[in-house]
Amino acid sequence: MSPSIPHRFNAEELEGLRTRYRTERDRRIRPDGATQYRRAAGEFGYYAKDPYTERVEREPVRDRVEATVIGGGFGGLLSGAKLRDAGVKSLRMIDEAGDFGGTWYWNRYPGIHCDIEATVYMPLLEEAGYVPKWRYAPGEEIRQHCIGIAKRFELYDDTMFHTKVTELTWDDDAAEWHVKTDRGDEFTSRYVVISSGTLTQPKLPGIPGIEGYRGHTFHTSRWDYGYTGGDQTGGLTGLADKKVAVIGTGATGIQVIPHVAESAEQLFVFQRTPSSVDFRGNRPTDQSVLDSVGPGWQRERMENFLNLVTGAHVETDMIGDGWTATAKLQRQLLTGTIDPTISEEEREYLDEIADFRKMAEIRDRVDSIVTDPETAEKLKPWYRYMCKRPTFSDFYLPTFNRPNVTLVDTADTGGITRMTETGIVVGDTEYEVDCIIFATGFEVGISGVLSGTLPVTGRDGMPLLGHWARGPRTLHGFYSHGFPNLFHLGSMQNAASVNFVHVLQEQATHIGAVVAEANSRGAKRIEPSAEAEQAWCDTISQTAPKQFGFQSQCTPGYYNGEGNPRQVSFSFGPGPVVFHELLRNWRADNIDEILS
Ligand code: NDP
Repeated sequence: MSPSIPHRFNAEELEGLRTRYRTERDRRIRPDGATQYRRAAGEFGYYAKDPYTERVEREPVRDRVEATVIGGGFGGLLSGAKLRDAGVKSLRMIDEAGDFGGTWYWNRYPGIHCDIEATVYMPLLEEAGYVPKWRYAPGEEIRQHCIGIAKRFELYDDTMFHTKVTELTWDDDAAEWHVKTDRGDEFTSRYVVISSGTLTQPKLPGIPGIEGYRGHTFHTSRWDYGYTGGDQTGGLTGLADKKVAVIGTGATGIQVIPHVAESAEQLFVFQRTPSSVDFRGNRPTDQSVLDSVGPGWQRERMENFLNLVTGAHVETDMIGDGWTATAKLQRQLLTGTIDPTISEEEREYLDEIADFRKMAEIRDRVDSIVTDPETAEKLKPWYRYMCKRPTFSDFYLPTFNRPNVTLVDTADTGGITRMTETGIVVGDTEYEVDCIIFATGFEVGISGVLSGTLPVTGRDGMPLLGHWARGPRTLHGFYSHGFPNLFHLGSMQNAASVNFVHVLQEQATHIGAVVAEANSRGAKRIEPSAEAEQAWCDTISQTAPKQFGFQSQCTPGYYNGEGNPRQVSFSFGPGPVVFHELLRNWRADNIDEILS
């Protein structure tokens, strides 16, 4: 640890930090909250268009399948794989994209990598006999792995790409779903799995004058290589004579900005809130470490990581990176290994102190890398560690030492003031640019049933959102009473983790096991009783993490509804490790309760 980071804080220093965090938060809170953004729809619809795969016209389909999976990202792919393992022959995969991959289909920007170690993030590695080349995998390697999973489990056999499901209606006599799509398809399906993701639709900042800008623009999730040249490894030669603006410094901006800086004549980075940027240290995967564990290495590493980052006790940290280090730091401070010089009063605030220390380390790192003190000051994040998604990069901060890069901080003006035909205005200063790249993130939960974009009608004509009028009602997050054979993936009334693919894999395993059991018993319906559903809702409301206090003190962002956090989270409080154990036990003892 750097000597400039205080080992402990006295009461005055703690109060000083709290005040600073509050002040920084307050100057970023906007009255328009989450409505400040513009949807990439209507006149901005071209921002969401698929630049990678041409849409092919086809005849509408009228037929019957055994199972339909909505979503071709990891949730859908894993569900498809587990349904195949369960013996499902007739399986239809549907996605609005032109191929499999989900977020890895859409996001192909230069520098794209997954910030979770590939050996725990990329699922089914041992099954595929594949070892990721790099510790933190580039996006294209992950996308190719998605395609590999689809081929291996024959998920390409019956796909509907560039297709959106528009309606699901249950037919109780036939015990199957009627499915309609925006391509005129109407077919029936015994089972339907919905895995439509949460961060799917690109969003744009609602900057006054955005529609009047005449230069070139695009969103990072639809990268325009025709304009920039190069590929995901960089070499954006088309920018050599261009003045470029990147708006946004979240997890995406941090990865994109070093590549744009390397190629553009001039780069202006428009920042509203700095990210916390920690050490990355990407390197080739060490095969010998995996060999030393032998078969089952991936499951062991995944469980180890999940245990660590959700606070469960493990003897060894097999991953040893920025994610597990922060979890470990907090756990050490909270359990036992406490510095005796820390006072009783301070002990009450140990988690806050651990957080303050980590963030001091992050700010100290900025000073040690960025040479211009004024720029360094602007790049320092003043909020608690998990208020925003932590980021990791060894290239981002040095970018600000380049002569062709200017950091434009917009915190005082609540973001960019306006756009003109030729550039971006912050306060009274106009920055003329040839191209604007929006690294401004995604709408939360815009797809799927909760958003209302996919109407679902169950038994006796009951709309799902009517059944859920006072909040989601499910057993274990998967299924609802009155809506047989319909499965939801996601963290709602289920589990959450920074390695969400692990959670999705457990969910897919569960769905596959339940379908296999139903088919082997000749059951036509998979459906929880009203009592079982109520009991799970009670469990969720008793255990769901009450993050409101923490989140409401956070700087605004999509984690806390731009400063307006939900009162309670919808997920299972004791966390994924306990939840997965609960599911395994439930499958062993209670599975017949939902089969008829
Ligand atoms: P974010 O929503 O995290 O970031 C959007 C950025 O745009 C923020 O810096 C935001 O500032 C800025 N912004 C928005 N409006 C304005 C405005 N009017 N003026 C100036 N700046 C503005 O989106 P990302 O695409 O970066 O990341 C989204 C998520 O995608 C991540 O949280 C992560 O879950 C996932 N992701 C994961 C990766 C991985 O490796 N696993 C890699 C990349 C993304 P402010 O913070 O002030 O709102």
